[in-house]
Amino acid sequence: MVDICLAGTGGMMPLHNRWLTCCYMEYNGKAILIDCGEGTQIALVEADCKLSKLETLLITHFHADHISGLPGLLLSLGNYSKKTPLKIYGPKGLTEIVNNLCCICGKLPYEIRCIEFPTNEITEFSVPEIDEMISVRAFPLKHRVPCLGYSFVFSRKPVFNPQKAESLGIPKQMWKLLHKGETVEFEGNTYTTEMVTDGLRKPVKVTYATDSRPVDTIADEAFRADLFICEGMYGDEEHADSMKEKGHMLISDAIRLAELAEAERLWLTHYSPAMTCPSVYEKGIKKKFPAAVVSTDGQKINL
Ligand SMILES: [Zn+2]
Ligand SMILES: [Zn+2]
Repeated sequence: MVDICLAGTGGMMPLHNRWLTCCYMEYNGKAILIDCGEGTQIALVEADCKLSKLETLLITHFHADHISGLPGLLLSLGNYSKKTPLKIYGPKGLTEIVNNLCCICGKLPYEIRCIEFPTNEITEFSVPEIDEMISVRAFPLKHRVPCLGYSFVFSRKPVFNPQKAESLGIPKQMWKLLHKGETVEFEGNTYTTEMVTDGLRKPVKVTYATDSRPVDTIADEAFRADLFICEGMYGDEEHADSMKEKGHMLISDAIRLAELAEAERLWLTHYSPAMTCPSVYEKGIKKKFPAAVVSTDGQKINL
């Protein structure tokens, strides 16, 4: 239903084999991107994500490794002949940052619309440019600068039951409308979606949290997420003090949050450039949280 690709998994600066953390989500033929560090447009192309489908960009915070790739991305979208507006959501101050970064872009062939959120409270919003079935929450993280995490709930249409529709004598050309949620009239009778479907299906929940200290509110937001994507800057506990100073977390912190959240899966990301081979921690991590993945660039799932 939703295709998710973690196109980059690095923190601070891109490496020759690791782009900066960014997440591409495709739903119903349209795409959302979270964060846009240096070289993100290349990471997306390498991971076979479709830039031409991008309608929505969410920014977590204004550190360079999360936003400095914006001019390149916007120019690439122009080269892909984008015409529809690009909506960019992010913390307060977003419009000014986007305007400043875009001063080298010239005239883009599409409009940019910025939507700013407070960083000290939760904001619930929808992304109608993608689909009304998606609801999103922006929630405060604890970083050195104001920072937001995002939780997405992708509602699922109930399963259509053709036997029910047939037994009611509803013509086939009306089935699609009913499945879409519309009420139809036929030969003096009124038919609703509930009459021809088998009830609601569990929505898909995805939570994204980077950069942050491991505050328990992240676990609240990621509660029973199908996929929890979380930073794991370092694997060794010896970095605990520096993580406190720098507003980041260790892999062990991310695992504790995933356990607390009862998340279905955990994808680790945003590794320090000094941690050249995060996969060495995989075995130990899986003992604690079997559904954890030490993500690499291009990590994909369909949920
Ligand atoms: Zn970062
Ligand atoms: Zn940061």
